[in-house]
Amino acid sequence: MRFLGRQIKVLGFWSTFKTLYVSLKATMNKNDDIKSICLDPVCSKCGNLAAKIEIVEPNAYPNDAIKWNAKDYVHYNKFRDFKSNYLIYSGPGGSNGFIGNPIDLKRKAALIDAFTKPYNAILIREQFYDMAGYCATCNKFYCSKHWYTTSSGYGKCPKGHSKSLDPHWSPDVV
Ligand SMILES: [Zn+2]
Ligand SMILES: [Zn+2]
Repeated sequence: MRFLGRQIKVLGFWSTFKTLYVSLKATMNKNDDIKSICLDPVCSKCGNLAAKIEIVEPNAYPNDAIKWNAKDYVHYNKFRDFKSNYLIYSGPGGSNGFIGNPIDLKRKAALIDAFTKPYNAILIREQFYDMAGYCATCNKFYCSKHWYTTSSGYGKCPKGHSKSLDPHWSPDVV
């Protein structure tokens, strides 16, 4: 009887260990699958990011996933369609959260095109209403701190050029 009791105890330890090991392994694998394209433009004034533009590849996680806890992973896995590319955006006019939105290959190519030099104001405007902090007159990017925003939703670049930074920004505006 004593022997049997010890055996059950050992089995109990083993199953706890196995559960821990499997969940740890799953988390580690997820961290290995970080695969994304970052097109983040930099502020000409201070060098901080003017906007965060990250395209997360299918079956992959964004860069920030290294900092996530288990709850973040559960939330992400629940809402993310892993077959699709995802766009994570945050700019002077708004953000679409830490999961982002699915995008097709056409939008992916257009995004890369718009945020690769030489910049074209029309192509940038087609991607984001706030233009990721781009001032067409200066041909430069500025962060939200260097766009002086007014209550009417208008922003002014450090040179005084103004444009609308829509407070009702939507990721679906193309
Ligand atoms: Zn700045
Ligand atoms: Zn300007």
